[in-house]
Amino acid sequence: MSKTKYIFVTGGVASSLGKGIVSASVGKLLQARGYNITIQKFDPYINIDPGTLNPYEHGECYVTDDGKETDLDLGHYERFTGIKTTQYNSYTTGRIYQSVIDKERRGDYLGKTIQVIPHITDEIKRCMLYLGKRDHYDFVITEIGGTVGDIEGQPFLEAIRQLKWEMGNDALFIHLTYVPYLKAAGELKTKPTQHSVKELQSIGIQPDILILRTEHPLSDSLRRKVALFCNVSPEAVVQNMDLASIYDVPPCMQEQHLDSIILQKVGLPVGKTPELGPWRSFLDMRRNAKEELNIGLVGKYDLQDAYKSILESLSQAGTYNGFKIKTHFINSEKLTPENIAAEITPMDGIIICPGFGQRGIDGKILAAQYCREHDVPTLGICLGMQMMVIEFAKNVLGLKDANSLEMDTQTRDNVIDIMENQKQITNMGGTMRLGGYECVLKEGSHARKIYGCDTIRERHRHRYEFNNAYMRQFEEKGMKCVGINPENELVEIVEIPNLTWYIGTQFHPEYSSTVLKPHPLFMDLIKTIAAIRKK
Ligand code: GLN
Repeated sequence: MSKTKYIFVTGGVASSLGKGIVSASVGKLLQARGYNITIQKFDPYINIDPGTLNPYEHGECYVTDDGKETDLDLGHYERFTGIKTTQYNSYTTGRIYQSVIDKERRGDYLGKTIQVIPHITDEIKRCMLYLGKRDHYDFVITEIGGTVGDIEGQPFLEAIRQLKWEMGNDALFIHLTYVPYLKAAGELKTKPTQHSVKELQSIGIQPDILILRTEHPLSDSLRRKVALFCNVSPEAVVQNMDLASIYDVPPCMQEQHLDSIILQKVGLPVGKTPELGPWRSFLDMRRNAKEELNIGLVGKYDLQDAYKSILESLSQAGTYNGFKIKTHFINSEKLTPENIAAEITPMDGIIICPGFGQRGIDGKILAAQYCREHDVPTLGICLGMQMMVIEFAKNVLGLKDANSLEMDTQTRDNVIDIMENQKQITNMGGTMRLGGYECVLKEGSHARKIYGCDTIRERHRHRYEFNNAYMRQFEEKGMKCVGINPENELVEIVEIPNLTWYIGTQFHPEYSSTVLKPHPLFMDLIKTIAAIRKK
């Protein structure tokens, strides 16, 4: 077995250039050549994890199967490559410091003064190498969050500089920058890239490969200029144009031989370029899908990134069913009995989104009611499912005060309750029910038919649960509890079998939908909607 190779991906000039997509694409291309890979992310912010962050700060919080709340880029890694990430694929400055401080308190450092260098950088290096050592990957791709030049990113850059020094040819640096187009001058400008590379060089990092994000194609002479000034070989300057979809990035990188260049630089045989067959047929289906389906997302965050995995799951399912998905954000805080019909009627289907806290829940309840009464295909996810349950309790079971204990600690009808072991928790970070749990699907249920099996495993991120004391009442009136956790009887799925498609899941199916394995719930929802459209 050959040694694990390490690829470090940094970003310069601006944030949001798509480092996560580039890292995922590199992973995909190496995987297509038969290599066993993983991708990990190191974020310089001080929160221990993004679990406590408002989605407006950092987008969606992605949850791994082993129950770690992580950066949304891990979602890209999984969607592109089908790998399962873990708690060891995501670190922050806070987590690094926490572990160093814990060691200091235990006395592990034997009286030494604890410093950023070497103690913090050593801890970063230990974490960066952990998965490679434990699982013997061929490649470990490490994305460094933030932008080169940020003060808080410096220990991470120092750590990867040292790793390269230790590993030589077994490590490689990819730097992603931005080449802006100045309209007035009619020109693409490489100066910001040059500065960004200088910044890296000043701390001892020489990028091996530059990926230039641009809105206009780069000429050969511009590539040569960048190569010359930034001290890289001309073929290692790769352009990353805005593309129709993020899923076009891997083939586009492959056409510029990014994978071959990587293999060459780490001293592995280059061989034949693989076909990416299933991936390309996915892209073909995507291009051929012209007709649009309109899906309304009822939620409170008017921000694409807040519902990233839901949007991607829908779009993948759309592609496989031959449709383009047009999502419409429906602000649950603005929904009223007067405008609900106007908001929902133009939609082919509705997702009632996850969330926390009181704000916007009345709108979610209203949406659940409208969709139930008008048989609009609807998927409620986590808080969305809880709102389906509360709506049903209020309007069908006649429990006017029905609520979740999260919203009303005094409610007489706590149809959404808190579990015993959650009651004493005062620390908010990392203490919800997190990660993958099994769920048994009831014989004859819609959910069972959709999944095509009797036991599933899905990821969770919530504190509150369906209150089983009410289960009989719900079932008698037509809302069935069809997915049950076999260990503790918690209700994981509710559905109304008398409606065309009305399902609520306490778990988050969106975390496990990938390009080559779209999630059955999203697939079936879109298939159903498409069939209605065709009629
Ligand atoms: N706020 C709800 C709970 O904690 C739902 C969480 C979610 O939607 N992820 O149970």
